[in-house]
Amino acid sequence: MKLVDDFLCPSCGGQTQVDKTTYTVDLGSGVVVVRRIPAAICTRCGDEWLGDETVQELEGIVEDAKKRRSQTEIVDYKASP
Ligand SMILES: [Zn+2]
Repeated sequence: MKLVDDFLCPSCGGQTQVDKTTYTVDLGSGVVVVRRIPAAICTRCGDEWLGDETVQELEGIVEDAKKRRSQTEIVDYKASP
């Protein structure tokens, strides 16, 4: 989906607000924490929705972390805007 300002929550139909969220992935061999991810967050039920591009970007970050085999990796979603 596209991340837009007037996106309504698919779970409850509530209004969403674009804000930053944190995503944690357990790789088994380690944990990756990605901070400052832009997401549409529902003001009613609190569900978080990510855009398609954001999901792809996250997958890339997780793949990179797997290759590095670090135990704990904490990264900002985008260091530069
Ligand atoms: Zn909702």
